[in-house]
Amino acid sequence: MTKQVDVTPRISTARSDGSGPFRIPAPQVKFTMGSGPVGIHERVSLALARAPLYHQDPDFQATFRDTTEKLRRVFCTQHDAFIMQGEAVLGLEAAAANLVEPGDKCLNLVSGVYGAGYRRYFERYGGQVVELAVPYDEAIDPAEVEKVLKREGDVKLIAVVHSETPSGTVNPVREIAALARGYGALTIVDAVSSLGGMPVEVDDWGLDVTVAGPHKCLGAVPGSALVTVSDRAWEKMLKKPQPLRRGYLSMLDWKEGWLGEGRFPFTAFVANIVGLHEALIARLEEGLENSFARHDLAARMCRAGVRALGLELWPAREAIMGSCVTAIKVPAGMNEDEIKLTMNKRYGVVISGGLKELHGKLLRIGHMGHMAQPMYVVVALGALERTLHDLGYPLKFGAGVGAALAAMDADG
Ligand SMILES: *Cc1c(COP(=O)(O)O)cnc(C)c1O
Repeated sequence: MTKQVDVTPRISTARSDGSGPFRIPAPQVKFTMGSGPVGIHERVSLALARAPLYHQDPDFQATFRDTTEKLRRVFCTQHDAFIMQGEAVLGLEAAAANLVEPGDKCLNLVSGVYGAGYRRYFERYGGQVVELAVPYDEAIDPAEVEKVLKREGDVKLIAVVHSETPSGTVNPVREIAALARGYGALTIVDAVSSLGGMPVEVDDWGLDVTVAGPHKCLGAVPGSALVTVSDRAWEKMLKKPQPLRRGYLSMLDWKEGWLGEGRFPFTAFVANIVGLHEALIARLEEGLENSFARHDLAARMCRAGVRALGLELWPAREAIMGSCVTAIKVPAGMNEDEIKLTMNKRYGVVISGGLKELHGKLLRIGHMGHMAQPMYVVVALGALERTLHDLGYPLKFGAGVGAALAAMDADG
């Protein structure tokens, strides 16, 4: 249950002439550093504000085409990429809707909330689900995947989450995809939060359907599912007894309509696409490797700060921690909602808590996209320190912020 929280802007007694308390309103511009959407760069905001073009306008179509070309570069693929309209989960559900044939054996890999959630898509479209699950603070072990593939013999599809955002962990997708190829299974990879912030090499790793979101490490706004499809996956979609066509979930409509004939299946989300286009231009100007290094630095700083405050990280091991979010255990005796709301309403910094079964247990600081900046991490940690202090947690001011700043040096 959500606790009632006093979130009146902080009353400071620190007027320099000693004439009594005054109120500081919360900052107008919030720092959005949760699990996504996250704060965006001004150039993306400005692109979103441009008057939208009609989707049949050749100028818009050129922008759309260039957006998918840039997406292919970010996904590191020569195969097809397209943009479905709806949140990222539309692309995830569509992968199952297009690929699963009734009776197909589907291996669902579960190391967190999103992994657990994929089961219902496999089941909805007639898959026979086999599950390999680990605790939500762990990652999938490829050796265990191989055991299941060997035991089952005829697994057709494997679903895996790359960056399990609710847990702050990462799964070894590259190794799992190599096994899938060896055993003749296709992969459905949820790279919603990782694309742009951590390496996702669709062709090199041999991924079949990969889905990403614009509103996490890519630094755009929510509302699209960014999808790649391998040739093997198109073949499976086409040879189903009843290939999925003429529907919002159809990937073949995108292949045959837009990629084939340059005809949109529906009215395109023009404003969203222009925003995503700008975010991709920015990311490619920066360089993917530089973006990965920036996300890695932000994550390292955040972890150092959190540890220095005496807080505990949620993932079981350093080796499985991702660069997208830092997941922190709520200190004993404290309330997740109260911490989040105080940070938000008093100090204007928005972080996330635990999702679904993790609610009440976690705080999550997202350092994704434009928000993966060293000094933004310092702001988030500063607000966290002040908030924890306000709520009675013992700490020495600057402990977390100082450790984060020190971690900016490679040897820090
Ligand atoms: C955010 C997220 C999603 C859901 O994306 P939406 O656009 O909100 O549908 C799915 N999977 C992972 C790993 C995510 O981080």
